[in-house]
Amino acid sequence: MKNKIVAVVAGFALMLAASLGLQAQASNTRAHVEALASPRLEGRLAGTNGERLASDYIVGELTKIGAKPLPGQLDFRLPFEFTAGTKDGGSTVRFEGGTGNARALSFSDNGDADGAVVFAGYGIVVLEGQGFGYDSYATLDVKDKIVLVLRYFPEDAEQKTKGILARYADLRYKAMAARQRGAKAVMIVAGPRSPNAGELVPMTFDTALAGSGILAVSITGDDAKLMFRQAEKSLEEAQKSLDDANPHATGFALPGVSVRMHAAVERERRTGHNVVGYLPATVPVGTMAKPWVAVGAHYDHLGHGEAGNTLAGKEDAGKVHAGADDNASGSAAVLAVAATLAKQPRRRNVVFGFWSGEELGLIGSSAFATKPPIAIESLAAYLNFDMVGRMQDNKLTVQAAGTSPAWARLIEQANVAAGFDLAVQEDPYQPTDVATFNLASVPSLSFFTGTHADYHKPSDTADKIDYEDLDRVVDFAASIVKRLSDAPEAPAFTKVDQKLQTGGGRAGVRLFTGTIPDYSTEVKGLLLGGVIGGGPAEAAGLKKGDVIVEIAGQTITNIYDYTYALDVLKIGQPAKVVYLREGKKLETTLTPAARK
Ligand SMILES: [Zn+2]
Repeated sequence: MKNKIVAVVAGFALMLAASLGLQAQASNTRAHVEALASPRLEGRLAGTNGERLASDYIVGELTKIGAKPLPGQLDFRLPFEFTAGTKDGGSTVRFEGGTGNARALSFSDNGDADGAVVFAGYGIVVLEGQGFGYDSYATLDVKDKIVLVLRYFPEDAEQKTKGILARYADLRYKAMAARQRGAKAVMIVAGPRSPNAGELVPMTFDTALAGSGILAVSITGDDAKLMFRQAEKSLEEAQKSLDDANPHATGFALPGVSVRMHAAVERERRTGHNVVGYLPATVPVGTMAKPWVAVGAHYDHLGHGEAGNTLAGKEDAGKVHAGADDNASGSAAVLAVAATLAKQPRRRNVVFGFWSGEELGLIGSSAFATKPPIAIESLAAYLNFDMVGRMQDNKLTVQAAGTSPAWARLIEQANVAAGFDLAVQEDPYQPTDVATFNLASVPSLSFFTGTHADYHKPSDTADKIDYEDLDRVVDFAASIVKRLSDAPEAPAFTKVDQKLQTGGGRAGVRLFTGTIPDYSTEVKGLLLGGVIGGGPAEAAGLKKGDVIVEIAGQTITNIYDYTYALDVLKIGQPAKVVYLREGKKLETTLTPAARK
């Protein structure tokens, strides 16, 4: 008996030891990352079934820890609409002898046009200041005409010239050039001497909410050849005469051709879902300043890479992008912070936001901040996690620290226990959801463990995550949230001046305007989501909500027009800006600065 009892006790002790040992090793984040990065979720692209399965998981975990939907909401899921892609809706180009075959370009307006056709060569206009003059329209009158242009750029040009022309060969830019010269529509053909000769142009992934202000379709090489029937040169001869990029070679009107065009783009609207819950304060918030703290991460990723932002090599094209570090790691961190806080008393309500559509342009968090279910001014602070699972050499990057004078001390205090080698960055204008909250004037921080070779590739998988350090990031952040939720005063917001424009502009543009476009709202012109503190746009008196419709004489119907218009601006030279504010047309002068 005795022995037996001893054996039983010893058995219990072993089990206890085993379970303690297991607990000491169990990660607070591993199960979450493995669930979210599982191939079953197919890369969690916004608006897909994979996103839905991921949101189910998050809702389940929030429910487990006792979080609730935000006040006034029945559900943790907060839907938002966005443009997920485009397809052709039956575009045609009809003319005598032609097939009628055509395909809209993704950015085309919808509508009909008919009339005479002018061949405008490559349809390229190089703006002045490039050391090379080239204007396909120099000798052509295309007003109220339908323009036919070649895809790409002159095939036999010297490398250096090609480089310049290539910058202006984007089809959006060609369409804008035609529109600005009064053409009613533009047709594109891949010439017989070009790659993809004669083929229709595939539609591209395009999240633009509206067309570019002109009808634009591609036609087949055979149809284009037919249009040259009565011209002095064949299509091939015409292309050949242009291919050495001689700036004096020109296009010409195509005699005897009259076309009827129907352009139709179906913009696929999809619904994405943010998942947002909260843990109410455990004591009445009373008159506490800004009684909410928010913690968030995007949980969407790239799906199979179909949105075009994948870095997968050819051999991995189309595979599930697991997105373990980007950003199952951040989502897991938010869930783990929530689980920690659920066991503690708090004097503020704490929101947990899981954003979707981040990879498509911060769409989910922007939708949340545009129509916030709780007053955005009542947020004392926002902490963001994006890619926090691949720590190297104990280094943790803390971004956006310039958004409040309170951060330096809070970060330092929390790091006494954590012991990270911190890289603190002031800049809140980051390509992640922290930018959204900074724009909304919420003191914010974003945590990041650095990029790696698996970034935006199918190989960003759960087995490569460093869970021990991810758990340390969670503890570190949870202690900051705890302090934030208990401090009687809320951190003050500091607007960070930023001289360097990140993203938005095209390569080679050395010029800085300090505008922050809002991609989430349908509008003709460039809607400003904000202006960069201390930048030229702010100095010009522009602000969030303004819609720029003209700059330096260039009409602006969308963000793309704007990025092209940047090419005509000169550093230090004032440019007239026409903009709409609350429906009123106003003018100001903006003086672009140099990028630093
Ligand atoms: Zn990403």
